[in-house]
Amino acid sequence: MNNYSRFSSDELLDILALSPNATGVYTSRDIIIQYANDAMLNFWGKSTAVIGLPMQLAIPELEGQPFIGLLQDVWETGITYEASDTAADLLVKGKMSTFYFDFVYRALKNSEGDVYAILHTATDVTERYLNQQVLKNAKKTQQQLTREQALNEELNNAIEELRASNEELNETQFKLQVLNSELEDRVDRRTKALAESEANLRNMILQAPVAIGLFAGYDMVLDVVNDKFLELWGRERSVIGQKLEDVLPELKDQPYIKIMQEVYTTNVPYIGREANVMLNRNGHPEQGYYNFINQPFKNAAGETTGIMVVAAEVTDQVLAGNRIKHSENRLSAMVMSTPISMAILEGHDMVITVANHSMLDIWGRTSEQVLEQKLLDVFPELIDQPFPKMLDEVFATGKRLAISEIAVDIVTPETTKHLYVNFSYDPLFAADGQVESIMVSVVNITDAVEARKQLEQNEAELQVLNEEISAANEELAATNEELFATNEELNETQHDLQRIINELETSEGKLRYMLADAPIAIALFTGRDMVIESANKKALEAWGKDSSVVGKPLHIALPELAGQQFLNLLDNVFTSGVAYNGNEVKALIEQGGKTEEVYSNFVYHPLKDSKGATTSIILVASIVTEQVKARKEVQKAEEQTRFAIEAANVGTWFLDVETREFIVSARLKEQFGYRADEDVSYDMVVAAIPEDYKERVLKAVERVISTGGDYVMEHPVIGHDNQKKRWVRAFGKLYPNESGKLTHFSGLMMDITEQKEDEQRKNDFIGMVSHELKTPLTSLSAYAQMLYNKARNNDDGFTLNALEKVNAQVKKMSAMVNGFLNVSRLESGKIFLNMHAFRLDELVNEMIADANLTIASHSISVTTTEAISLTGDRDKIGSVISNLLSNAVKYSPRGRRIEVACELLGNMARVSVKDEGMGVKPNDIEKIFDRYYRVESTHTQTVSGFGIGLYICAEIVQRHDGRIWVESEQGEGSTFYFTLPVN
Ligand code: ADP
Repeated sequence: MNNYSRFSSDELLDILALSPNATGVYTSRDIIIQYANDAMLNFWGKSTAVIGLPMQLAIPELEGQPFIGLLQDVWETGITYEASDTAADLLVKGKMSTFYFDFVYRALKNSEGDVYAILHTATDVTERYLNQQVLKNAKKTQQQLTREQALNEELNNAIEELRASNEELNETQFKLQVLNSELEDRVDRRTKALAESEANLRNMILQAPVAIGLFAGYDMVLDVVNDKFLELWGRERSVIGQKLEDVLPELKDQPYIKIMQEVYTTNVPYIGREANVMLNRNGHPEQGYYNFINQPFKNAAGETTGIMVVAAEVTDQVLAGNRIKHSENRLSAMVMSTPISMAILEGHDMVITVANHSMLDIWGRTSEQVLEQKLLDVFPELIDQPFPKMLDEVFATGKRLAISEIAVDIVTPETTKHLYVNFSYDPLFAADGQVESIMVSVVNITDAVEARKQLEQNEAELQVLNEEISAANEELAATNEELFATNEELNETQHDLQRIINELETSEGKLRYMLADAPIAIALFTGRDMVIESANKKALEAWGKDSSVVGKPLHIALPELAGQQFLNLLDNVFTSGVAYNGNEVKALIEQGGKTEEVYSNFVYHPLKDSKGATTSIILVASIVTEQVKARKEVQKAEEQTRFAIEAANVGTWFLDVETREFIVSARLKEQFGYRADEDVSYDMVVAAIPEDYKERVLKAVERVISTGGDYVMEHPVIGHDNQKKRWVRAFGKLYPNESGKLTHFSGLMMDITEQKEDEQRKNDFIGMVSHELKTPLTSLSAYAQMLYNKARNNDDGFTLNALEKVNAQVKKMSAMVNGFLNVSRLESGKIFLNMHAFRLDELVNEMIADANLTIASHSISVTTTEAISLTGDRDKIGSVISNLLSNAVKYSPRGRRIEVACELLGNMARVSVKDEGMGVKPNDIEKIFDRYYRVESTHTQTVSGFGIGLYICAEIVQRHDGRIWVESEQGEGSTFYFTLPVN
């Protein structure tokens, strides 16, 4: 034991707990927390619940920080780790905070040099925060200390009792020895009284309060064994007479029987102290500690017949003692090696009884120089410092004293050290409650304090400087503000100036440009004489003069103005000061020897002096001669047209596509049965069109408006006034406005009633004639057929031949008659469409099959790609196809090919008939679908026809909402197309 071993383990634990420094003890590679004082737990922000846990589990926030790794290194290498100013992030009060520590991981080793624990001590250098915590905790701990001291006392008493009983044992033992020798003497002297005496002895032994036994012979046969012994062994009295090794077989592997046999053979007594004996008691092996004496037992003849054993169990004492020793050793090592400086001063004399390494460091002394010395003898310099008084106070009051950051002077033989420390005086109490000694704990914070003082001083200096600077700054700021204000004003003024200058520059530039190159004439006349002060190019040009006129009065420069209104006007402006505007005013000007009409829009603008008197006049004129002349031309032309239109009895209309503004001429109004002076709207015009034409007209108008193109339409009108039907033909199209955009739809409307009536009469006539012709034709055809049959029976070749020709001519004729009938029906609107759904492809195939039966002169091929269904008049569409086919045959030489195709293009079906015939001239392409139109050519003269086939085709297709057209190259052939909408 060291010189500080006078403290019990609990005291030492308390010392540690009291210590303001954080202390922890860990074992195993898992760093299991075996001990942590309150300071340490505070650092961690944990409770005592962490004791017994591996650090990784106890303080999970250390994950990612180096501490656990460092501790494992210390455990494995046994090398102590020291660090200072190390940051650790700890979860304190649920908040992660960073603390700074000086800390030591000290490997604690046993006598074999193995690490049995790590002592962790840490000082929070983050300043005083911890001191307050320590103060709080210390109070608690002190109460605990007092409680535990009481317990300690009880323990001491117990030990004392054990010691007393041990002494008794020793005494008894001694008495027995005396007794023994007396007995021997008596054996020598009085053999006779032996038996009695032996019996007495035996009884005495049996009743002795310690275990006493007599073992006979080398085999240690149980001769006499008292109850105490049996009790100690846990055996019954029946074991007497047996060999010890049979009674206690568990002693077989223990040395004690051997020792007894040795005492028996050597006659040398053996004393065993705290011998560790394993006995099977109460049904299980029990470890016990025993003090015993083995004494050779001799008979009267002085021969050794056995041995006597006296034994006492001291297990409790030994175990208690071991524990104390064990923990004392460890704790004192901890205390000694902790980096908090610690010392214990005993009694009022303040004798230094303990001082750890760290304290000796501060003192600058060795343990020999201080231990067992009075504090003030060692440090006489303390006499004038406040510490002795404080210590006295702790002794007197028993109250803890802790002071942060106090200055101390320590005089060592070499120097005087000026230190700053946090220190505490903790009273340690004796059993009577009096303060026995004082634990001094000191943390040297000199570095931190000096650093802070330096900082404070710097701060103070900075403060002074700062104040000076801010005063200077304020002045500057004031000046600055003034300057700023002035500056802003200046800026503004400058800005304004710049703007004015810019404006002036621009306007001056503009002015100059205007004067020189402007597309309008500008001139300045000064004084009442109107002296030409300046005149730009355009002005000179309008006057037909050069710059020599500048400087001359106007009436001299332009003598031709005499007699015209201008000089008077100028004089009026000059005298009145009121400007004059002229619009499209004609001036007669001499230009290159000729008098020219010059039209202009102009202003005479008076320029006045400060008194308001006119000093000069500015002329600004735009020459509009061309426009005025052009307009006059147009007006003239328009007038002529109007006369023509009116003379031709033609109405006109104008429709603004965007605004739908509708203007109609008086004639048109009349055509529709309105009065010439009436306002006639578009709807009123439309209302006059009969229902069966209305939709077609409106559609055609909308088509022209949206797609352009020509509007040509013939339709009846029911006069608004008399409800009489009249016919009109309208031609119209889109016209552009001034900017070139097509914005209005206008055209002419002619009354064609008479023409129509003529046609109607003609149609009626044709219809009637055709109808009348049909009956004789039918009889003619029947008679011809009869004659033909007869001639065939008679084998009359000539008549047969003639009748065949008659037949062919009759067929042709009836086809023509049918055509005329159709036309007349069409014209009078008597053709009705018999609408049904049918397959166009099938119809085309049928028509070609029929044609192939009768036509041998041409080869007809057909391509139908897919099934095409639509709704229409099947017979009439069929007649369109046959018409196109017969034309192809008619207008192409024998032996040529005719190709028919039927295909679907989007939502339209298209049928085409292609021949390799004469083709159609571009001029005729538009017209061949017109009624009675035939192309003039040598070929057509030889081909019969009236130009009605294609007209009827076109009518039928259009009434199906389809389109018909031809593409052709003259001499190469033609392709006729028509399309029909698919359902
Ligand atoms: P028609 O054939 O009775 O004269 P159509 O109305 O059928 O009357 O034809 C009008 C004109 O169009 C014909 O006179 C002819 O000049 C021209 N025409 C019609 N089909 C063809 C064709 N396949 N090739 C060349 N010209 C044709």
